[in-house]
Amino acid sequence: MVTEAQMGGERVLILPEGASRLLGRDAQRTNIAVAYAIGNAVRTTLGPRGMDKMLVSEMGDIVITNDGATILEEMNVEHPAAKIMVEIAKTQDKEVGDGTTTAVMLGGELLKRAGDLLDQNIHASTVIKGYKGAAAYCEKMLRDISYKVTLEDTDTLEKIASISMGSKTVGFGKAKDKLGKLVVSAVRQVAEKKDGKIVIDDDFIKVEKKEGGDLDDTQLINGVLVDKEIAHPGMPKKVESARIALVDSALEIEKTETDAKIQITSPEQMESFLKQEEKMLREMVDKIVASGANVVFCQKGIDDVAQHFLAKKGIVAVRRVKKSDMEKLAKATGAKLATSLDDLSVKDLGYAGLVEERKIAGEQMVFVEKCKDPKSVTIFVRASTEHVVNEGERAIVDGIGAVSSAIEEGEYVAGGGSIEMHMAVELRKYATEIGGREQLAIQAFADALEVVPRTLAESAGMDAIDTLVELRTRHKKVDGRDIGVDVYNGKVADMKRLGVIEPTKVKTQAIASASEAAAMLLRIDDMISSKGKAHMGPGGPGGMPGGMGGGDYE
Ligand code: ADP
Ligand code: MG
Repeated sequence: MVTEAQMGGERVLILPEGASRLLGRDAQRTNIAVAYAIGNAVRTTLGPRGMDKMLVSEMGDIVITNDGATILEEMNVEHPAAKIMVEIAKTQDKEVGDGTTTAVMLGGELLKRAGDLLDQNIHASTVIKGYKGAAAYCEKMLRDISYKVTLEDTDTLEKIASISMGSKTVGFGKAKDKLGKLVVSAVRQVAEKKDGKIVIDDDFIKVEKKEGGDLDDTQLINGVLVDKEIAHPGMPKKVESARIALVDSALEIEKTETDAKIQITSPEQMESFLKQEEKMLREMVDKIVASGANVVFCQKGIDDVAQHFLAKKGIVAVRRVKKSDMEKLAKATGAKLATSLDDLSVKDLGYAGLVEERKIAGEQMVFVEKCKDPKSVTIFVRASTEHVVNEGERAIVDGIGAVSSAIEEGEYVAGGGSIEMHMAVELRKYATEIGGREQLAIQAFADALEVVPRTLAESAGMDAIDTLVELRTRHKKVDGRDIGVDVYNGKVADMKRLGVIEPTKVKTQAIASASEAAAMLLRIDDMISSKGKAHMGPGGPGGMPGGMGGGDYE
């Protein structure tokens, strides 16, 4: 191991004791094996007939999910190559909000096939070049063949939502259509036109959840659901036509930072001291009263005495509201956040048709609803158990991501593996044009894309090879490009006609991040770890998640 250098005949240690190093093909081989294992670990969850995984944390917490990003996050991988694969999922989740499994699987598959090429003595840089060319070709192809969709296209958007959510187990059943509609309404409500473009800030679709009830009870609130209670029992539980103040400063007497001692020597002094405090609090409340507000959301604390005064004036107050909720409330009600009570005026107040505290599953929550054209809304997810409500939330977040991307980009493609098959067929034609060794890399890219239809076929209990052969044949014909895997009927069919459609961005992003990650890992021919060997070999504690169906690297 080269952990030292020669200097004037003397040996100089470069790496610390216990550090380990992998060089050349060994480094590549290890990284490829690990990446492929990660891809394989999430593979079985793909599509509506994919399976779920149950993950148990060190603390014994259980997560049951089908969501690629969540699985990888919970797996707590340690190997550096595995971490790069997890990054693919994270990027996909952040950029699109859906397609994480696809992206990670594709990354693993690209690397596995790159490994085969390296074994045939094709240089990594040739593979990388071929992959880059293939990814660029696919991106252009996707742009050329996408179908168009607009904000007004309710039917198409609802299909995109329900396909995106439908691959999670909870998406089944009677709630599916309702949830699709709900997601589309929410996204559409917060969509804003900026410089002629439609912009959707997902942050302003709050997804709040509480177990209890049924998935079918999930509702869209035209405003914000604040998971807090009203500060004082003497305050009204319900205010119609609410005039809302958002206050950033505390309704408390500030305690001095330093230990300034106040000498109180007589009961009279004590009384006047308390009187003084009370007077200051009363003045604060008077400022709120003067603004005309009948509901106050305070980001900081509210003193008991101030609460009492507010209650006497019939003003509803909620304290210690999260900053993110304050921002959402501002967007939903049109209120301006007042940093000091002195600045608060009638112009800063927002409006909500109804502010009401309701008891949900034993806990109080404040509903701020019936806002006028709110640019911030809440989807309130209900389901029978904690696990279902959590997976329901993940499904809805995926749906929001898919619908937002479809609207922002204005484009969608047919799913069910049809688009991947189309790209594979076209790429193979392109490969012959390129020729040379690079052609082999482009072909490998095409083969890797087929992992999607292959996995969908397997999940439906179909013969994977027969299905791929049939798909390839159909795709070579005119009008064949939307033919994919009908997982419910176990046959190949026109996916667009079946309504299995997905935003184009899910695919472009998956290809971009998977191919970039593959190139990044292939470029590494020297791995130095100061943590020691255990973290770099595929079998060590931080190695392959072999127990998750990932060990069978063929
Ligand atoms: P990801 O995390 O990649 O979104 P999913 O588990 O959501 O993984 O599966 C998405 C894949 O399932 C896509 O390729 C999509 O086209 C496919 N799919 C979804 N619904 C259907 C369906 N009804 N029939 C066939 N394929 C479907
Ligand atoms: Mg999905």
